[in-house]
Amino acid sequence: MSDGIFWKSVKRGFRRTCPHCGAGPLFDGWMTTRDQCPACGLVYERSAGDTWAFWIIGDRIPIAIAIAAVYFGVGPRSWIQGAMVIGAVLAVLVATIPQRMGLVIALDYLSRRWWPDPNDPLPSSVAAHGD
Ligand SMILES: [Zn+2]
Repeated sequence: MSDGIFWKSVKRGFRRTCPHCGAGPLFDGWMTTRDQCPACGLVYERSAGDTWAFWIIGDRIPIAIAIAAVYFGVGPRSWIQGAMVIGAVLAVLVATIPQRMGLVIALDYLSRRWWPDPNDPLPSSVAAHGD
């Protein structure tokens, strides 16, 4: 855990590449996740729903903050303005789906690295691809 793997994986996820090797793409198209890394064979998501906890953190919290900010900051006099702020936040959230999906996959990958599961072996270490 002291080898900077956290930031390396997060960076790779944000760049939409495999958190394990950094070489294979995470997506097939704009936001269709691949099942597996074509370069090292890492299975990105063992079973659907493994990453839901990370999704809640990544999705609900920014929306909740935006709504709270509008509620407490803008006030009831300018609900149209408030709706526009929430709309802008939602637009940003949608626009960054691939990046956030990459981060979620990277966090899931890290949790599997930190708490290894004998039934879920990660691909053996591969040659570093840059970074
Ligand atoms: Zn890979």
